[in-house]
Amino acid sequence: MKAITVNLQSTSNRLQPQTLPTPEPAAGELLIQVHAAAVNRTDIMTRDGLSGYATNPILGVEIAGVVEKANGTSRFSPGDRVMGLVNGGGYAEYAVIPADRAIPIPEDYSFEQAAAVPEVFLTAYQTLYWLGRLQPNESVLIHAGASGVGTAAIQLAKKLSGAQVIVTAGSAEKLDFCRELGADVLIDYKKQSFDQEVLQATNGQGVDLILDFVGADYWDKNLASVKKEGRWVVIGILGGGEVEKVNLLALMTKCVQLTATVLAPRSNEYKARLTADFVRDVMPHMEQGEIKPIIDIVFPLEQALEAQQHMEENRNIGKIILKVAE
Ligand code: NAP
Repeated sequence: MKAITVNLQSTSNRLQPQTLPTPEPAAGELLIQVHAAAVNRTDIMTRDGLSGYATNPILGVEIAGVVEKANGTSRFSPGDRVMGLVNGGGYAEYAVIPADRAIPIPEDYSFEQAAAVPEVFLTAYQTLYWLGRLQPNESVLIHAGASGVGTAAIQLAKKLSGAQVIVTAGSAEKLDFCRELGADVLIDYKKQSFDQEVLQATNGQGVDLILDFVGADYWDKNLASVKKEGRWVVIGILGGGEVEKVNLLALMTKCVQLTATVLAPRSNEYKARLTADFVRDVMPHMEQGEIKPIIDIVFPLEQALEAQQHMEENRNIGKIILKVAE
């Protein structure tokens, strides 16, 4: 099969198209003929030798495709269309996935739409609800609102919780898109001081929950933006991973609950439970068309590097897809 692997020795192009043996599903796994995969920042970190947790030489943490065969009894049969998180191996014509992580693709979805779901929607669901414990009608600050995870989180917070959704993004076009998805307060972080805008929008209280993709650069402003006893979930370090000065007393005085997570290295058991809750709480809304995957652009698998560069240039609104087969 065709697959894209990483060559950390190369200085010019670390992504290597290769012909590799088709993987064999272990007990409890499905072999999937991949029709579409999607690009994530974790792939870029792995490509650059920075993730430290990737074990599969083939890139890619999410797929959409058709079940080719199942090892062991499974609720899926050959020919079923499924999407889900894989432990690497997504940038390829075939991949294996634990059967308890495969999600049936809604009938009216293309494979490209399906590939836009798993990583960003499961991350948004996990951080808003499992870690962030968002309650009905609370307020949430979602940074990078037009990102893959941001566009998923806006929809979930709005549709599932009726939350007051405050977003930051770096252009009017991105903020307009966030508004269309349901965001209530739009902040251009390049022109406005987001903490002041957040305080103004919340009667000086701050938000109940922050989904933080930026990290170090936003540390002080996030602390100013979170409500007393609020929750703050660190999901990304787009603005740096090392905070120069952390004032623990300020965190303590505000009684902030600070959590950090990365989904990719979580255990199979965790991902299976997360998938099950997501299928129960979110998939009915997707099947009804009330919550939808957002695609920015589709590249052929062979152009995986160009697809990643599109992401690194911060050009996308929603997901960047790799088309693997018709
Ligand atoms: P994405 O679609 O590539 O969007 C990221 C956006 O963030 C960019 O388009 C850019 O939009 C904004 N951005 C970039 N650098 C920034 C900076 N220094 N300060 C402020 N904004 C910046 O990303 P994604 O796939 O949705 O992922 C979003 C974040 O979540 C990434 O950090 C990713 O690593 C993380 N993530 C974490 C997990 C996890 O389990 N922890 C899982 C998935 C993703 P603007 O034009 O608005 O600046």
